[in-house]
Amino acid sequence: MQSWSDRMRSLGQRIGLVPTMGYLHEGHLSLVEVVRRRADRCVVSIFVNPLQFGANEDLDHYPRDLSRDTALLREAGVDVLYLPSPLTMYPQGFQSEVSVTQVTRGMCGRSRPTHFRGVTTVVTKLFNAVKPHVAVFGEKDFQQLVTIKRMAADLDFDIEILGAPIAREADGLAMSSRNANLSPAERRAATCLFEALTGARAAVRNGERSATAILDIVRTRLAHEALARIDYVELTDPVTLEPVSAVDPSALLALAVFFGNTRLIDNTVLKRTQ
Ligand code: AMP
Repeated sequence: MQSWSDRMRSLGQRIGLVPTMGYLHEGHLSLVEVVRRRADRCVVSIFVNPLQFGANEDLDHYPRDLSRDTALLREAGVDVLYLPSPLTMYPQGFQSEVSVTQVTRGMCGRSRPTHFRGVTTVVTKLFNAVKPHVAVFGEKDFQQLVTIKRMAADLDFDIEILGAPIAREADGLAMSSRNANLSPAERRAATCLFEALTGARAAVRNGERSATAILDIVRTRLAHEALARIDYVELTDPVTLEPVSAVDPSALLALAVFFGNTRLIDNTVLKRTQ
């Protein structure tokens, strides 16, 4: 991987990277589109990173379909599919970690305390392997995007970090590889996430500013769904990810909800003038 990238760099080509865990959908492909606009060469990595899964999480059930992914990436005109094995990434004796301490504390970090360390460590390794000029991450994983921007700034990575908007299904559900693990009833129930966020947006449009009131609207909508079990619903500052008491002038509304064993996340940025 490194020698391909060295060769491209010596030819003056700009390299873009889209890191993924595979089982690709249109959300992933929209990140590829961003790279194609911002770089000459596009690398997509697929690596289901054991380091970012907790002991009781869904590593063994994470959906995989490499031949379908390969076909989709070929069709999208991607130059390189980088597919490291767990042993290449973490050979015996591996013991180093990259950790971003503050923006990873709340939200997903509270229920998944080792998750972001796993993400920042693997993304650092992917950056060192691929040597991209630009890397693109989805706003669906908003806390991850903020964390990686922080890491790149703090550790002087010479890489432009770009965010891309959330791609959604026709009924509003945010696209996610994990949607494949939902039962038909859970899949129907899961539209409540988007509806809850939409309800909060409508309230803000009608003048609501208070965090308590907005969080109440979201929790009430989710409580109507028997199959939904809330992990968290938070209103935070979109940069520091610290909780805020009002939308002033903007705020990130983010949530994580379990349907059976499948944990889904979604978010929206609320603005005073939206
Ligand atoms: P994953 O394969 O789930 O680890 O995701 C790989 C990248 O795709 C991450 O940067 C995600 O934020 C992004 N991504 C996943 N789902 C979506 C979506 N529905 N819309 C936009 N980006 C997404």
